Amino acid sequence: MPSPPPKKPAASARQPEVARAAVRVEREVREKLHLEILRRTGAYRTDDHFLLPSGHHAPEFIDKVLVTTEPLFTEGLGAVIAKHFADWPADVVLSTGPGASILAHCVARALPSRPVLVYAIKGVQGPQRRVDLPDEFARFVRRGTKVLIVEDLITTGETIKLLIEMVGEAGGTVGGIGCLWQRDSKIELPREVFSLVTRDFPTFDPAACPLCREGRPLNVEFARAAPPIEEPLEVSRSRPRRERR
Ligand SMILES: [Zn+2]
Repeated sequence: MPSPPPKKPAASARQPEVARAAVRVEREVREKLHLEILRRTGAYRTDDHFLLPSGHHAPEFIDKVLVTTEPLFTEGLGAVIAKHFADWPADVVLSTGPGASILAHCVARALPSRPVLVYAIKGVQGPQRRVDLPDEFARFVRRGTKVLIVEDLITTGETIKLLIEMVGEAGGTVGGIGCLWQRDSKIELPREVFSLVTRDFPTFDPAACPLCREGRPLNVEFARAAPPIEEPLEVSRSRPRRERR
């Protein structure tokens, strides 16, 4: 019996590899472009010796307050995030706080599903962190609501985890998280994160800082900024938790 003709390697067998490489290149190009945009806003600074609000030293700094000061850039960046999630018809864009709501507005404006925009409020209660929706917004997130979370800078991801729980408790679904900058590439979140830039930069204890050893003058321009509320706090829930089985 004639043996079947040798099969040509199917194009589809090669495609995953090619597709992965294309995704990687696309991602690198995209990140370079977005870094350059953030540099132009003055939010991303490099080649210096910064004193961080935490007391550590670093050669780079991203200033959260400055990332959305150029409306045209913010609109462009918001549209990129919206394009990524365009196939998932979000009902609500949930900003992690009032600070991220400028970006969140731009994402919501560009989404074809015309979602409403709400923001959460972060707070602390004793040693614990909490997130909640202002009462006026609570009715927008209920059973069956599709929610896209938007954050400007993800540092630890703890706020986002709390928001995902909060939406789940209200009966809604979080389809993903769009953000400008993810500071720690190793953060794992229970939903897809689409980040325009994912970049860890080194920070040094002053006693072990190579920039200090080189004698570079310390730039204290950003030291006055309050440390991000995410950093030192323990996680808590905004609402009473249902009993776990
Ligand atoms: Zn130093």
